[in-house]
Amino acid sequence: MRGAREGSISAADSIKEAVAKSKEIQKKYSPFITINEKAEASRTKGRLYGLAVSVKDNICTKGLQTTAGSKILEGYIPPFDATCIEKIKNEGATIIGKTAQDEFGFGTFSVNTQLSIPKNPSDAERTCGGSSGGAGCITAAADFPHVAIAESTGGSITAPAAFTGTIGLTPTYGRVSRYGLVDYSNSMDKIGVLGNRVHDCALMLSIIAGHDPLDSTSSELPTEDFTKYLNADLKGVKIGLPKEYFSEGVDKRISKNVRDKAALLESLGAKCEEMSLPSTPYAIPSYYLIAVSEASTNLAKYCGLRYGLQKDITGNFDEYFTKVRTEGFGEEAKRRIILGTFARMAGFRDKYYFKALRIRATIIKEFKQAFKKYDALITPSMPVVPPKFSDIKNLTPLQNYYMDILTTAPNMAGMPTISMPVEKVDGLPVGMQIIADQFKEGNLIKIAHKFEVSA
Ligand code: GLN
Repeated sequence: MRGAREGSISAADSIKEAVAKSKEIQKKYSPFITINEKAEASRTKGRLYGLAVSVKDNICTKGLQTTAGSKILEGYIPPFDATCIEKIKNEGATIIGKTAQDEFGFGTFSVNTQLSIPKNPSDAERTCGGSSGGAGCITAAADFPHVAIAESTGGSITAPAAFTGTIGLTPTYGRVSRYGLVDYSNSMDKIGVLGNRVHDCALMLSIIAGHDPLDSTSSELPTEDFTKYLNADLKGVKIGLPKEYFSEGVDKRISKNVRDKAALLESLGAKCEEMSLPSTPYAIPSYYLIAVSEASTNLAKYCGLRYGLQKDITGNFDEYFTKVRTEGFGEEAKRRIILGTFARMAGFRDKYYFKALRIRATIIKEFKQAFKKYDALITPSMPVVPPKFSDIKNLTPLQNYYMDILTTAPNMAGMPTISMPVEKVDGLPVGMQIIADQFKEGNLIKIAHKFEVSA
């Protein structure tokens, strides 16, 4: 990473500068919910010494407000660090602030929140994507050494990476501990990284990955130093282009960009061919059923007693609970609580929730089958260029959900992905998504890095 580690300026000055510049960026683009005014350079001279890191606001940071983008958690100051935060602090990183997001991760454009709405540095009338929009925004706007820690359930790292022209690495489910993450849909939530260089993402992942006894779903597989996959050769690497990801509904100019990149990867020694993942169209309905079902139970704990928003205690428990939740949750959170509760209800469960789980199993099987033959798959990251806020307002909830057609399947299957910027369309950033088999982040780093240095 640049800056302090190169010895050009001291770590203390580097962090001071990062905070001062972040405040300037905040005035223009609002990437943060909270800026860490007390940020100080670490004394630990680890691998991230002097590095400014921003953290999505659904990841707990000791002493620093954590809202998950929701008014219901406003004022909540965690007394502990999430495991990934502890790990980066142990390597000398400094948290400069908490980044804006859709409430609890419920969205694709970072507009579903009563708190901060980040604006795209390429065009401030447009979204940065979501739900980790603040992470994409600050990663694109920062002209100081910086890496963002973010989270994805169904595409929340890929969307902002594509829309802001940055790199977004979503690891395999279970690769990074979720301890200290505010749950959205816990069978799909994954903590990952946004950066401007593949190297930075690989290094960060090497640090935050690994088994954690505090998260029973974190994998016990040994973790790796992912930087060893940088500068690898692509000879013999087999890449599939799933045709369903290039179909109707995807901007043809974006599809073409990605196909052109396949040609580039071929010239670098890889073998690319078209293939099919026929269950892809079922990903959106099943993803949303599973996501809202889990979300509706996860949100039950916000009752205005334990964390965040509190009101004068009047009336009985139901009345108090209703008052706090009516005010604290935004429209999309309420919609998801209702949908999720319905999908899990006795009488409907088999028809919706269990059916969605079966589709998910089929999607996983299909990916697994594909990865017997291919080392990775490439697809467009998002089907459209970053939309204008004025156009997002006119989308129905269903049209909103369909923006995730390219990201939900790999996310619900727990496959790792990386989004790489490709040529702009109409002067706006767009991305290419690379998908690998579970725990094969090495393949992503290998292909993405070769692509980065050759494109
Ligand atoms: N847009 C998707 C949703 O609203 C994904 C969000 C995410 O990954 N957190 O659920």
